[in-house]
Amino acid sequence: MNFGLNEEQEMIVKTVRDFVETEIYPHENGVDRTGIVPPELAEEIRRKCIDLGFYACNFPEDVGGAGLDHTTFTLVERELGRGSMALTVFFGRPSGILMACEGEQRERYLLPAVRGEKIDALAITEPDAGSDMRGMKCAARQDGSDFVLNGTKHFISHADVADFLIVFAATDEEETPKGTKKKITAFLVDRGTPGFEIRKGYESVSHRGYHNAILNFTDCRLPKSQVLGEVHRGFDIANEWLYGTRLTVAATCVGRARRVFDMALPYAAERKQFGRPIGANQGVSFKLADMITEIDAADLLTLSAAWRLDAGLSANREVASAKLYASEMLARVTDQAIQIFGGMGLMDDLPLARFWRDARVERIWDGTSEIQRHIISRDLLRPFGA
Ligand SMILES: Cc1cc2nc3c(=O)[nH]c(=O)nc-3n(C[C@H](O)[C@H](O)[C@H](O)COP(=O)(O)OP(=O)(O)OC[C@H]3O[C@@H](n4cnc5c(N)ncnc54)[C@H](O)[C@@H]3O)c2cc1C
Repeated sequence: MNFGLNEEQEMIVKTVRDFVETEIYPHENGVDRTGIVPPELAEEIRRKCIDLGFYACNFPEDVGGAGLDHTTFTLVERELGRGSMALTVFFGRPSGILMACEGEQRERYLLPAVRGEKIDALAITEPDAGSDMRGMKCAARQDGSDFVLNGTKHFISHADVADFLIVFAATDEEETPKGTKKKITAFLVDRGTPGFEIRKGYESVSHRGYHNAILNFTDCRLPKSQVLGEVHRGFDIANEWLYGTRLTVAATCVGRARRVFDMALPYAAERKQFGRPIGANQGVSFKLADMITEIDAADLLTLSAAWRLDAGLSANREVASAKLYASEMLARVTDQAIQIFGGMGLMDDLPLARFWRDARVERIWDGTSEIQRHIISRDLLRPFGA
């Protein structure tokens, strides 16, 4: 593994960092205060990202993406992580699962998503099925050559601005040695399809302005051409294409933690109490030492998991470790930064309280910390038959 960045990666990191600092930072407070991203601002970010050549940079060149490898894309996510998620979502990275599009689906969904003409969102979670995806109740009954979808999804990120949803639903059951298991199919569902309603979701303390939505399906009729991948094989395409998304959570956590650290370090050096910088006290300086050690550790875990993906090596455990550690690290680092800033750390005048609130969801979405520990420990124990 090479620990340095090549010239192209250095350039990409600098370009994305500059973009985040000039196009995202100035709007963050307003979005956090109002919970709204003005549509013209969203469009401006999207347009500038397209002009920079970064839109859908996670997609291969033969479908119009920038064809970045996992490591370089992880570096992009790390830089984007410094900025507000409500705004950086418009620096479009469509879901990789769209690579499963076939035939005319490529013209209707994949290519417009890569060009930035259509926004996708991914709908798996339900009120009664979170960590246990197979417990989903949303079901698609086959009726002739159509499917009829009924059920509810919730917590669906940026569905409010999505043109179409990738929706997972149960299409059958099978008996297995471990009991009855649902067979799952993925569907492409356009906004505006009769029987499909997108409702306002819950207010979250994390990432204000980055909305989640509730989706209701009532006898929503979908022709078979809306099936993404094969019928009953939704988990296969999810495993193939959503495998690495937890790594983007890890990368954004590292980026945000570095931004927090970049605030805490000079403050510790400049803020004086008892006639000397607060950083002259071990109570403060050792916090900084722990923070940077944890940030670097999370960074290395994340990049080494990306490197394994690029090398075609198995990375399930490594990706889970990176997501687990980086998201928990971010919680500790934001908390310690607030401690270093004292009372000012909690005031809206500084963005630290926002980073602290935003950090909370990272341990929950894309698989909770407990589920990551489950993946890691299963990977370790399975060879022993345990
Ligand atoms: C803001 C936000 C945005 C989201 N965006 C999306 C999205 O775009 N699309 C989407 O499909 N989903 C999305 N999610 C859903 C997210 O992935 C789920 O919240 C997450 O998987 C956990 O599910 P749950 O909230 O139902 O918790 P539950 O699964 O009910 O878990 C509750 C608690 O029990 C623990 N637990 C559950 N099972 C086990 C076990 N076997 N062992 C140990 N502990 C266990 C969990 O770790 C957790 O602590 C989003 C969630 C949030 C909060």
